[in-house]
Amino acid sequence: MEKRVMIVDDSRVMEIQMKNLLEDTEFEIAAYCKDGEEALEMYEEVMPDVVTMDIIMPGMDGLETSEALLEKHPEARIVMVSSLAYDDTIQEADSIGVKAFVYKPLEREKLIEALEDALI
Ligand SMILES: [Mg+2]
Repeated sequence: MEKRVMIVDDSRVMEIQMKNLLEDTEFEIAAYCKDGEEALEMYEEVMPDVVTMDIIMPGMDGLETSEALLEKHPEARIVMVSSLAYDDTIQEADSIGVKAFVYKPLEREKLIEALEDALI
């Protein structure tokens, strides 16, 4: 059965990119959210298997959104997607309960690996 992915990213380009990267994989895109507020609402509606979370977004950033989401839904599986590879971001995301990390520019193999890691 396909795993349902919810994408949270303020760039619409990322939705298109994800669609291409996840084509013919075990993952399908269940929802796209442009910001954290939308993601918190959409999660309950969609109940995805895994969420990809951009870090830098207007309004709530990816860390704040992840924290709020996990507070309400501790079962949420989040992959942080970022061009920032700073150690403190990774540590903070880890401590919040984010399952995996993947970096932009996205590569298909790395993305799938991170999504699979998050589902273990
Ligand atoms: Mg962004």
